[in-house]
Amino acid sequence: MSEFLKFEVDLDNFIKNLNTKLDANNEEITKLLKIENKTYTNFVKPLQMMEEYLGHFFTPLSHINSVNNTEETQKVYSDSLPIITEYSTKLSQNIDIYKAYKEIQADEKDALNHEQNRVLELNIQNFELSGANLDEKTKARLQEINIKESELSNNFSQNLLDATNAYEKIIEDEKDVEGLPQSEVQNAKFEEDGKTKYKFTLQMPSYIAYMTYGKNQTIREEIYKAYVSRAPQNGKIIEELLALKDEEAKLLGFKNYASLSLASKMAEDEQSVLKFLNDLLQNSKAQAKEELKEVQELADKPLQSFDSAYYSELLKKKKYEIDEEEYRPYFEQKSVIDGMFTFLNKLFHIEFKKIDEKLWDEKATSYDLYVANKLKARLYLDLEARESKRGGAWMHNFQTHCKDLEGKEQLASAFVVCNFPASSDNNPSLLRHDDVVTLFHEMGHAIHHLLSDVDENEVSGVNGVEWDAVEFPSQFLENFAYEPEVLKLFASHYKTGEIISDEMIQKLVKSKNFLSASAMLRQLEFSLFDFKLHTGVFTEDEVQSLLDEIREQTALIKPPAYNKFQNGFAHIFAGGYSAGYYSYKWAEVLSADALFSVVDEGIFDSKTAQDYLNIVLSGGGSKSMGTFFKELMQRDANPKSLLRLNGIK
Ligand SMILES: [Zn+2]
Repeated sequence: MSEFLKFEVDLDNFIKNLNTKLDANNEEITKLLKIENKTYTNFVKPLQMMEEYLGHFFTPLSHINSVNNTEETQKVYSDSLPIITEYSTKLSQNIDIYKAYKEIQADEKDALNHEQNRVLELNIQNFELSGANLDEKTKARLQEINIKESELSNNFSQNLLDATNAYEKIIEDEKDVEGLPQSEVQNAKFEEDGKTKYKFTLQMPSYIAYMTYGKNQTIREEIYKAYVSRAPQNGKIIEELLALKDEEAKLLGFKNYASLSLASKMAEDEQSVLKFLNDLLQNSKAQAKEELKEVQELADKPLQSFDSAYYSELLKKKKYEIDEEEYRPYFEQKSVIDGMFTFLNKLFHIEFKKIDEKLWDEKATSYDLYVANKLKARLYLDLEARESKRGGAWMHNFQTHCKDLEGKEQLASAFVVCNFPASSDNNPSLLRHDDVVTLFHEMGHAIHHLLSDVDENEVSGVNGVEWDAVEFPSQFLENFAYEPEVLKLFASHYKTGEIISDEMIQKLVKSKNFLSASAMLRQLEFSLFDFKLHTGVFTEDEVQSLLDEIREQTALIKPPAYNKFQNGFAHIFAGGYSAGYYSYKWAEVLSADALFSVVDEGIFDSKTAQDYLNIVLSGGGSKSMGTFFKELMQRDANPKSLLRLNGIK
């Protein structure tokens, strides 16, 4: 019998089978709760495995709905969502389960291993962060707050969307669209009263196009002003949201919302986040000023906020732009995949072997992963774009490494999905370098899941990994796609066989690092603003003062007073990133730091790479990433590594 599940979805009977499964689960939960002497083995483990098996049943549907989307998959998927949500919500609020976990923790803490203790800790924390352990009155208030918060977040997005859609700028003089790429001109073009006109909006592609290529400064300012002054009514919503979040945090026993947010993250406390961000800021500022000077030289008057994208683009064209078409022949899809496997083999001594298996599409392939000649996991690749596939790229885990109720080892499996150009018998799929980076990124997530040695599924592979550390393994691997030693393993011209030159690789790195210090400053502005905002309660005016204060440090061009960026900061007011925006940079530092350790040792003789496999990848979510990182490097992460990766001196 195969170690891996067959990939099957019975769409016709899915809902019926789902309901049967959930009924059985609910019965089982009632039975488990009746056990007199609950232990990890007779209570926690069966609950955990129940969730694992539910995932095995549900994942094929969500996967098929994303990669072979049809009206039928959509219908079954959207019918199943409320059923699953109701089940999980009930489970996450079942106070009897919480009490049982607490008792088992008190009885067995010393007898359990660190993986089992971590399972208990995380589950108990989940219950407590939602207030399940509090008195009824507090619980009721928390629920009110949650409902109000999601209403406000929803209004925030809706206001932003309405304001975005309400605006258009019509340009009648052809001269004002000169210099824009042909495709953008075509998108903007329309006929009215026998005249050709051009319409620009605040939708992302259209807005960016004019700000980047539009040479008429007056029009740029007009569009910019419309963009940064959208949804003024969101100012009051921010005020209300901040007050509610502060109350929520205090009811749950935290000093402020920032502390609540950090409770389940790798970063230890407010001070460490602020110090981290400020260090990066102090070290990037000088170079950002140099970069601005270089851009400024192309303009005849002092740059304003609505000029920087335009002149940056001019500079990029002049000095740093790479021609994708020149690179594509070096990145033929099949050689990239084989090369990536060779690279992983040389780095970690792991092996991928293609297997013959019928999958959901003839372009999808599967591989068995071997470690020291022993079968370890299965990887599914589905890399080419097609109409029925959702856009973008992602990794999705299917089975998780663990020991089941009988103590039998279950192996892991995962999907990596991308949208690369389709190949045909006559035409190979030629990738952009960015696509190669994307593939490495998703593979970083995949091997994090597949190489786990953890026996408890809830903290195995990518399960249980802290939010601000999840991107560490993916960014770590992605960084190698710029290393000459790695690229030269596979980047050869598909017709001539010629290997990519050092000069071409250098250009890729320079282009990646173009204006990197300025970009760093902008990200730090967002991160500092988000984080400090969630340390207290602020009125609309105070929010503005806080932003102005931060900009004293981060904005080299002072934005005009009408810039109300905060009213459009949907990431944190409507996207779940509250007091968490810093996570982007946080994970980047971990990955850059580990990368240079490997590079400086010589990539393919690196001891750190082997340790990374044995500590970080094999440990999954069984310890905090902070602990793993210290075990790996014998020290905390060094922000200087990120500066080095971004070419900031
Ligand atoms: Zn990722």
